[in-house]
Amino acid sequence: MIERSGNLIVISGPSGVGKSTLVKKAREVLPDLEFSVSCTTRAPRAGEVDGRDYFFLNETEFEKKVQQNEFIEFAGVFAHRYGTLKSEVLSRLQRGADVILDIDVQGAKQIRQAARNDSEIARAAQFIMIVPPDMETLSRRLTGRNSETPESLKLRLAGAQSELSNFRIYDYLVVNDDLETAQNDLISLLKTMRMRSSLVKGEPFA
Ligand code: 5GP
Repeated sequence: MIERSGNLIVISGPSGVGKSTLVKKAREVLPDLEFSVSCTTRAPRAGEVDGRDYFFLNETEFEKKVQQNEFIEFAGVFAHRYGTLKSEVLSRLQRGADVILDIDVQGAKQIRQAARNDSEIARAAQFIMIVPPDMETLSRRLTGRNSETPESLKLRLAGAQSELSNFRIYDYLVVNDDLETAQNDLISLLKTMRMRSSLVKGEPFA
């Protein structure tokens, strides 16, 4: 059997673009994908479960993990802090699992930076951005979502535009116009990534 290490799949996209739906579907279809559960200081939304959707921490607990160097990356998003734990990622890559990070552009930039000093991350990291077909569609979708107060909606729209302006940092763009097409595009992309020769360990054909 060919032994391989995993991909570190960074997926970003502005709120309202349908990223969570797309990632959820990909995980159903490709059960080998593992999801890195992030830490956050924001409050859980209805239906969110601690340890499954996020590790919900207070500011003190979050700061302690920063000080103890437990994060691969962390960032402030919409007045709260979010971070990716090393413990959610590194051992899984080693044993060959593909790990998905659903993180923002600041986090993606930090992973790019980390890849400069760490050959394992450099080999594993792949960057995907989910984008809307245009800004008008995104604005319409965000308005239709009732989880936002008017203030947070405004903040998120401005954030979306600035996030999207960084699209060239990413290796791949998946356009979410028609949901089913976007789902198929993302799944094809993730399947293709599993075939990367650079992930193969050792010399299996020697
Ligand atoms: P939400 O609060 O809607 O779940 O997420 C808000 C934003 O934070 C999303 O763009 C999401 O990708 C980003 N995010 C979630 N976890 C992390 C993380 O660990 N690190 C960074 N940098 N961003 C994150």
